[in-house]
Amino acid sequence: MRRREFVKQLGAGSLALTSGVGAARTARADSPYAWKMVTTWPKNFPGLGTSANKLANLIGELSGGRIRVKVYGANELVPPFETFDAVSRGTAQMGHGAAYYWKGKSETAQFFATVPFGLTAQELNAWLYYGGGMQLWRELYEGFQLIPAPAGNTGVQMGGWFNKEINGLQDLKGLKMRIPGLGGEVLKRLGGTPVNLPGGELFTALQSGAIDATEWAGPYNDLAFGLYKAAKYYYYPGWHEPGTTLEAIINKAAFEALPQDLRAVVLNACKVVNLDLLAEYAARNPAALETLRSKLGVQLRRFPDDVLQELRRISVEVVAELAEQNDFSRRVYASYNAFYKTAVDWSALSELAYLRARDQA
Ligand code: CA
Repeated sequence: MRRREFVKQLGAGSLALTSGVGAARTARADSPYAWKMVTTWPKNFPGLGTSANKLANLIGELSGGRIRVKVYGANELVPPFETFDAVSRGTAQMGHGAAYYWKGKSETAQFFATVPFGLTAQELNAWLYYGGGMQLWRELYEGFQLIPAPAGNTGVQMGGWFNKEINGLQDLKGLKMRIPGLGGEVLKRLGGTPVNLPGGELFTALQSGAIDATEWAGPYNDLAFGLYKAAKYYYYPGWHEPGTTLEAIINKAAFEALPQDLRAVVLNACKVVNLDLLAEYAARNPAALETLRSKLGVQLRRFPDDVLQELRRISVEVVAELAEQNDFSRRVYASYNAFYKTAVDWSALSELAYLRARDQA
C-alpha cells in the first residue's frame, strides 16, 4: 500500500507517465493476485464456458495483468456442483455458475437465478441493479463468505427436449426430466420427477433413457450438446427459465485483499460479461434454431395453452410457498414481487405491445 500511495503522489507531478508505466510493468511480472475460477460448465462450452473465459481475460486486461485468473471447467478442480463450496472455503477465489444450483444451501438463492413465469432478462437486471435485488443477494451470500455478481444471462430459454408429444397435463405425469430450480418443483407437483444434473451429463442420461426429457438452455447450447440426437420434440417457451442470470461468486477474503481499483475491475468485468452473454445468445440462438429445424429434422412444438396455464398457476403457488420459509425469503419475495408487478405493467405497454404490433404488422 505504501508503495502504491507513493506512485500515486508521483502521478500528480511531472514524472507521472514514466512512473506509471514502470509500476505497471513491475506489477505484471509479479502478478500479485493469481486466482482460480471454478465453474459448473464443461471447459470452453459455447456461451457458458466461454463467458467464464471472457470474464477471466477481461479481469486480466482491465487490471493491467495485476490479477491473473485461471479458469477450471467442471471436474477439473472440483465437481461442477461443488463450485459454491470451493469458493466459499477459498479453494478457488472465484466461481461461475447459477444461483439455483445452490438451493441445497439456500432455497432463496433461486430468486437470483430465475423464477418460473417471473422476470425476463431485462427486467431481472433492472431488479438486481436498480430495484434492490443486489443488496439482498449480497446479504444472503455474506453468510457463505461470498460476494455475488450477475455475470451472464441466457434470455428466455427453450422448454426442453422430449421423446413424446406433450398434449396435455397427463403427459407430464411420471415424466423423469432434468429441470433445475423452482421449475423442477412445479413439475413434481404435476406428477413428474425432476432431476438436477450438470450440463455435461445430459446427453448420456437422455440417450440411455435414464431420463425421459431434459431442458438445457436454448438452441445455441442445446445444439452444441447434440441433444437433438437423443430426443425428437423440442418444446417452447421456457416457462421455467424466462431469463436466467449466471453468477460469478467471489471469495470475500480474496476480494477484500484487493485494492479498491481492482475490486472495481472485478465487479465491472462481471457487469460487462453479464451484458455480453445476453447479446451472444440473442445472436447465436436464431442460427442454431434454423440448423436444428431445417438441417437436423427437429420437431418444434409449443406447449398447449392449458398446460402453460396450469404450469403458471402452480408456479405462483410454489414461489409463494418458498417465500414463507423464513424472514429473509419473505423479504426477497416482497422485493421481487413488488418489482414484478410494476415490471409486468410496464412491459405490457412497451416490449409486449411492441412485439405484438411487430408480429401482426
Ligand atoms: Ca435451463
